[in-house]
Amino acid sequence: MPCNMKTGDKNLDDPTIRQNLEDAANSAPADPQHPGYRDEVAGYCGTADCSVNPGDVNVSEPGNMRTGDVLEYHTHLNAGLPSLIPGQKNYIYVEDPSGQDKRSAAKRPVPSYVVGPNSIWRNTPDGKGGVTSKCFQRWSNSSSGCQ
Ligand SMILES: [Zn+2]
Repeated sequence: MPCNMKTGDKNLDDPTIRQNLEDAANSAPADPQHPGYRDEVAGYCGTADCSVNPGDVNVSEPGNMRTGDVLEYHTHLNAGLPSLIPGQKNYIYVEDPSGQDKRSAAKRPVPSYVVGPNSIWRNTPDGKGGVTSKCFQRWSNSSSGCQ
């Protein structure tokens, strides 16, 4: 499926940045203990590359922002699968950013993206301690994201 390159977001519509972001997200490894699940990955992307830091099925940390980085990202590729969070067995993973994702994004100087199977969420600091959240379709000519 081709990427949706008409989001109106300057990072997602930049061919190099977008390809690097997609490659970074797609590098999320299969979780060794949970067949069918993938570990999250997180990092920062500049205009030339992205850093990639694997986490586990529930969380990931982007590491340090580098000079020239224009965005932060992490993945929610387990969206739709039953939660593996201890004590939250009835929860189903979602693409949407969590409360913690938003709190972390509010502190970053660059926009933070959450890449799910069908959606890419952007959280941008609103200057008042919170974020403005916007969802984009990940794939071209698709409406399967942002449900
Ligand atoms: Zn998250």
